[in-house]
Amino acid sequence: MPKQKVVVITGASSGIGEATARLLAQNGYCVFGGARNPSRARPISGVKFGTLDVTDDASVVSFVDWVLSEAGKIDILINNAGVSLAGPVEQTSIAEATKVFDVNVFGPLRMIRAVLPSMRSARSGLIVNISSVLGFLPAPFMGIYASTKHALEGMSESLDHEIRDFNVRVILMEPAFTNTNLDVNSANTEAPLGVYSSQVEATMKTVVAQIKSAPGPELVAERILAALEGPYKMRQPVGRQATLLSRLRRFVPAKGFDGSLRKSFGFRKA
Ligand code: NDP
Repeated sequence: MPKQKVVVITGASSGIGEATARLLAQNGYCVFGGARNPSRARPISGVKFGTLDVTDDASVVSFVDWVLSEAGKIDILINNAGVSLAGPVEQTSIAEATKVFDVNVFGPLRMIRAVLPSMRSARSGLIVNISSVLGFLPAPFMGIYASTKHALEGMSESLDHEIRDFNVRVILMEPAFTNTNLDVNSANTEAPLGVYSSQVEATMKTVVAQIKSAPGPELVAERILAALEGPYKMRQPVGRQATLLSRLRRFVPAKGFDGSLRKSFGFRKA
């Protein structure tokens, strides 16, 4: 069994997952990365890639079994794999919403169910769930994505109570916009935008511009490393913008907050 801490990262083939896998390997962790197609993932020194589709029960079980057979333990699980969906809630089909929930909520649930027995019997473990600012602050035309991150936050907080006696804890990382390919890799609702058309286009322009000028995934990776090595704290906004938004959300009266959020997305004051 390796003396190093063994980390599993889902969605390690790009963006935040890839940057985190690289940084943790450079810092002495034994890293296992999941990717739907490992042959397409860029090799990273010190990271072992395995096939993992978090929407597939059998894939999750065989990936976790493989890591346990190679390393004998899993100290840290980072549920990073995620997809987004842009579009008006009214125009979202149940099938489209189900797909996003399957990756962003049921994916972490599958991983947690597969990994927890070994963490509980070792009486040690940490689960890091990658949420988002949208996990505490919903934005227009990202209603389904925001609801998956709210669901992930709720599940994480419940779970943390349930497993604390086994010396296993849950952390939520809450990044703001990060310059990855999440927008390119993710879908837009398929139904015609209809009455929402001009507002969706304006909002998405703002969102894409914010993503392109945002910090890269290395910032989130650094914050994850700091969370693994620092004192425990459940909710960890990533970066200055996320920290500020998290504080404003808690302390600014709802009406004022609502007005400034609408303004920032170019909505009429209501
Ligand atoms: P990327 O699109 O770069 O990475 C997403 C990763 O998820 C890919 O590695 C992809 O792997 C993987 N993935 C998608 N579907 C599945 C699946 N069914 N099974 C296994 N892996 C899957 O985006 P980011 O790096 O930006 O996103 C990572 C996380 O960070 C997500 O949870 C996202 O919600 C969150 N986040 C992102 C922000 C941003 O602005 N970018 C802000 C806040 C949070 P594959 O190669 O198999 O497609």
